Amino acid sequence: MGELRNCPTCGGFFNYTGIREVCGKCTQQEEQMYEEVYRFLRRRENRAATIERIVEETGVTETLLHKWVRRGRLQPALFPNLGYPCDNCGALTTKGKLCEACAAQLQNELKQFEAAEEFRDALQQSEKGAYHVGRNEETL
Ligand SMILES: [Zn+2]
Ligand SMILES: [Zn+2]
Repeated sequence: MGELRNCPTCGGFFNYTGIREVCGKCTQQEEQMYEEVYRFLRRRENRAATIERIVEETGVTETLLHKWVRRGRLQPALFPNLGYPCDNCGALTTKGKLCEACAAQLQNELKQFEAAEEFRDALQQSEKGAYHVGRNEETL
């Protein structure tokens, strides 16, 4: 069972079964490429190669490298210069959808937003309070 889809790599139709995102032919090519990249990276002196260098040396596309890192086929723990672009700023990251800087910024904004909400709630509470209780206290 599956559905007919366009292969994003070559544009041809293939039967999508939920496992492969590209057609059989491209899957095979990707696997060959992976082997080549892996062979390249396995050499001690290439462990710390940057994505640019790997692309240059093996002919793989950046997109494929990003995909493999994202899926954990190439582990940034072993190859420190590998990563994939942050959804927000495009800087390389190795976990989640955002790089550390953007994740921290998002956290910050979230906190500010929550703080603003709390402040607004507190203000509303105190306004209500002021109306019912506060006024009396002030006049006392
Ligand atoms: Zn294809
Ligand atoms: Zn970012």
